[in-house]
Amino acid sequence: EERTLAMVKPDGVSGNYTDEIKRIIVEASFSIVNEMFTQLDKETASAFYEEHSSRSFFPHLVTYMTSGPVLVMLLEKRNAVSDWRRLIGPTDAGKAKISHPHSIRALCGKDSERNCVHGSDSTSSAEREIKFFFKNVVSG
Ligand code: ATP
Repeated sequence: EERTLAMVKPDGVSGNYTDEIKRIIVEASFSIVNEMFTQLDKETASAFYEEHSSRSFFPHLVTYMTSGPVLVMLLEKRNAVSDWRRLIGPTDAGKAKISHPHSIRALCGKDSERNCVHGSDSTSSAEREIKFFFKNVVSG
């Protein structure tokens, strides 16, 4: 079994996509080990995306990520990291609508920023991100 960090971003929550996304998650045989509905502040969003802090889009990304509540989920299944990434589709949701029409980003995202969901990109970032949000969860 492997764990990954999934998030429904502010546009996904405000667009009322959380129930549908959770249904997709369960149908794809993930277990939702833990979940947390939270509002990120600027400091937390900046720390979460610190690897992008030098990018030109960073201030805008922080504004987007703090624009409303998010749903953070700890998912578990075999190959959870790559399977969740495959399910959400490419970063640019506009392109996802064409190249990956059945992906979650095609379903609820808009463009390269407002892409409605997050997924850890490797097992090491999954470990970091799970600790970031769920400090008290023993890793499996
Ligand atoms: P995430 O880490 O959120 O799952 P990702 O791994 O597909 O997304 P990254 O390259 O890590 O994509 O970028 C992190 C987030 O920053 C993206 O999900 C998106 O919201 C935003 N972002 C990435 N590239 C751009 C861009 N060119 N313009 C605006 N926002 C961007």
